[in-house]
Order: sequence, then C-alpha cells, then structure tokens
Amino acid sequence: MTRPDPIRFAVVGGGPAGTAAASTSASLGAEVTIVEKDILGGAAHLWDCIPSKTMQAASIRTKSMRDAANLGVVARPGDVDLATLAQRIANISNDLTDGTTDLLESQDVTILQGVGRFTGPHELTVDMESGERVVEFDVALVSTGSVPRVPDWAPIDGQRVLTTRDAYDLDVMPDHMIVIGSGVTGVEFVNIFSSFGSDVSLLVSRQQVLPHRDPEVAATLEEDFLERGVKLLKGARGDGITVDGNEVVVSVEDGRSIRGSHALLAIGSVPLTAGIGLDDLGVDMEHGFVRVDQWQRTSVPHIYAAGDVTGQMPLSSVATMQGRKIAQHALGRPVNAIEYSNVAQAIFTEPEIASVGLEEAQLAAAGRRVRVTKVPFASNSRSVIQAQTRGFVKVYSDPATHEVLGGTIVGHRASELIGILALAVQGEVEVGVLMETLMVHPSLSESLVEAAH
Ligand SMILES: Cc1cc2nc3c(=O)[nH]c(=O)nc-3n(C[C@H](O)[C@H](O)[C@H](O)COP(=O)(O)OP(=O)(O)OC[C@H]3O[C@@H](n4cnc5c(N)ncnc54)[C@H](O)[C@@H]3O)c2cc1C
Repeated sequence: MTRPDPIRFAVVGGGPAGTAAASTSASLGAEVTIVEKDILGGAAHLWDCIPSKTMQAASIRTKSMRDAANLGVVARPGDVDLATLAQRIANISNDLTDGTTDLLESQDVTILQGVGRFTGPHELTVDMESGERVVEFDVALVSTGSVPRVPDWAPIDGQRVLTTRDAYDLDVMPDHMIVIGSGVTGVEFVNIFSSFGSDVSLLVSRQQVLPHRDPEVAATLEEDFLERGVKLLKGARGDGITVDGNEVVVSVEDGRSIRGSHALLAIGSVPLTAGIGLDDLGVDMEHGFVRVDQWQRTSVPHIYAAGDVTGQMPLSSVATMQGRKIAQHALGRPVNAIEYSNVAQAIFTEPEIASVGLEEAQLAAAGRRVRVTKVPFASNSRSVIQAQTRGFVKVYSDPATHEVLGGTIVGHRASELIGILALAVQGEVEVGVLMETLMVHPSLSESLVEAAH
C-alpha cells in the first residue's frame, strides 16, 4: 500500500498565527511552506508585544526607583540610555526570531523570505530578492497581520510625529509626549513615557480612557495617571498635527490645541489584506478584514485566515491559538472552536489591568444573572508591604450554579494573577473551589480567594 502524499500547507505571513500554524501542521505531517517579508515572529516580535513590553519593563524599573522612597529606600533614577534600550529590544526580538526559525527548520518547514500573493486557487507567487517563486498548495493560511492606522491629518515623520512602530528608537527622551488615542495601546504608551519621567498628555476621544471597559477599571487607571501628572483631555478627537521647530501642535476637533515635544498616534490598526490576490479568489471581506467561520475558514474553504487580518480579537495569544487550531482542522484532527469569551487579556499599565470572561455589564446585557464580589488590594497585606495598593479584584459568578464566569483584576502583576481565574473559567470551576484554595501568605493571590467569598 502506498502512503498518501502529504498535504501541502502554505502560510502567507509569519507572525504568531502563521508560525504557530506552520509548526503545528508540520508536526502533524504536512509539507509546509511559510512566506514572510520581514522577520519570523512578525509584528509581534518587531514592533508590538515584545518591544512594547521590553520598553515597559525599563520604564517600570525607572518608576519603581522613584517610588522606592515609599519603602524607605532612597534611590535616584538614573538617565535612561535610549540607545542601550533600543539595542536590548532588538536583541530580544532577534533571539525570539532565531528560536522560531530554528524550530521551523528543525521541522523541515520551507521558509521563503519575500512577499506572497495568491495567483490561483492553489497557487502562491512569492517575490523574493532572487526572483519569483511559485508555491502550489492544497491548503493555505492568510496571516498577514495589520499596520497602525494613520489618518491623513497625521504627518508621520518617525522623529516627532510617531506611530507606535517609531517609539522604540527615539534619539532623545520626549519632554512632553502627546498620546492620541486612549485604547489599550494608547494607555500602555502613556504608562511607559510617564514612568520614564516625561510629561504626558492624553487625548481621550470620549469621557473615559478605555471607552469600552468597566468604568471602575477606567476610573482607577485615570486616578493613577492624574497622580503621575498626566494631563487628560476628555472628549478630545485629534484632527491635525503640525511640527513647529522642536515642538508639535496637536489640534482637537472642538478647537482646542495642545503643544508638546512629540505626538504618538495610537488609534488602532488596519488589516494588511490589499494586493495579495484575495479578491480574485473570491474571498469574502468586510471593511478590509477577512471573514471567517468558527474554524477560521474563509468563504473559499481551503483558504483559512487568522490573527489581525480577521479583526476578531487582535491579540498575539489569540492569533497563536487560531494558528494551531487551523492546522489541526485542516489536517483532519479533532478540534474545538475557540471560546472567545474565555480569553484572558491584559493591559500592561502599572497598575496592570487583566480580565477573563465577559465583564459585569456584558454579562447583564447577555441576560446572565451575575453575582459580583469585589476586594480592594488595599486590604491585601502583600500589596501594603509592597506599597502597591491601588486596584481591586472582581469575581463574577453565576448565583444559581456558582460557576465562575469571569473576573477583572486591576493591580500589580494582574497579568499573572488572571491565570488563576482563566483556569477557573475554562474549567467551569465553582467559586467554592476558589474559596477553599489555600494560597501563599502574604501574596496577591489571597485577594482572589477573598473575592470568592
Ligand atoms: C503596540 C502593540 C502592542 C501589543 N502588545 C500585545 C501584547 O502585549 N499581547 C498580545 O497578545 N498582543 C499584543 N498586541 C497585538 C499583537 O501584536 C497582534 O495581535 C499580533 O501580532 C497579530 O499576529 P498576526 O500573526 O495576525 O500578525 P503579525 O504579527 O502582524 O504578523 C504578520 C506578518 O505577516 C507579514 N506579511 C504581511 N503581508 C505579507 C505578504 N504579502 N507576504 C509575506 N509576508 C507578509 C508581515 O511582515 C508580518 O511579519 C500588540 C499590538 C500593538 C500594536
């Protein structure tokens, strides 16, 4: 008996979604080709998750030196060496990319550096430095990611008027950074530059930062920002930026304007789906995003899409999970669809904000009865010892079944603590189990047990 030929699996875009799909499908026996125009690991390694969190680590260290006086330690934060920081970001990004490349090479994945586009239902053409190469496939994945959204009133120059991608190799620390956009990315950069000691102003288009989040969460973050001296301009939609010598002037729709040394645009991203041949294949799109079903299949069933191009939940963790599941689905393995309401997510401010499951208002809107218990970190002995008492834990449970439905944590290390609640939600655990769990004392996790009571 002859063995069937392996499935030819082609991936366009080597970010978290693409590399996870390539690795998983190779481990399941597919013959895999991945096409990437920049670096394996994608925007996540080059500009987004890894660089921003590396910069955040440096900024938090700077701030904690300043805050050390609260613990009786007299320390003066030194100057931030931006060149060393930029080099560290590049080194970490390169190391992670090397690790991904080694893994895929060890799995015999063909890695093509170039720009891929679909030239037929089962054909991809790759523009490489060495010329064009045609790849034939049985199954393909589109995981080309997204780029920062830049409106026509923002003259990005990479020096004073920046997108998030320009923030990592500045020559000088901004005297006064104006951040435009108060979603997740905007508030993370407010945290970074204000922790470094820059003056920061934030344009908040509505009446609270993080407009779609629990107002108590937003209020806690705003309180922290105000305490640091961040200027919040509420109801302020930017509509123009001009560079005036060493300064920038950002104008607001209602006639206000604000002057600073730099402006950073953080108003979302747009999918990278143009010019890759999806229209010719008849792949359904919506506002530039690729439409997919619960298995991430596009309207052309042997072509899948994952990550930021789908507009589903623009997170690296989600893109990775989608990539893995696509490989399993395409290769006929049993697979469960992703439960998006169980995704744990974090905002890397200080205090951090993390959540899993639907928030209180969303649960109520979905017609779920919900019991909410809330404990402030001010009553947690470890928080008091560490002088980091801002924030709280909220646990949502079903009053009838007692199942943990979700939770929100605002506080130091919330991005780590949320894992406990994520496991509870995923495992459909009852609050009683959380109540009975003996945590370390003194520890931040004790607040989760307390909130379960
Ligand atoms: C500032 C910032 C910070 C973030 N921080 C976090 C975080 O802490 N945690 C988190 O979970 N998420 C974070 N995100 C979101 C996360 O970065 C994205 O959701 C994630 O990168 C999406 O992965 P992806 O695989 O869809 O695409 P990407 O990572 O964007 O990768 C897509 C790849 O496709 C390549 N490509 C595009 N077109 C072609 C083509 N035609 N041919 C070949 N290659 C092509 C690109 O070069 C790129 O390498 C952050 C985002 C931003 C903007």
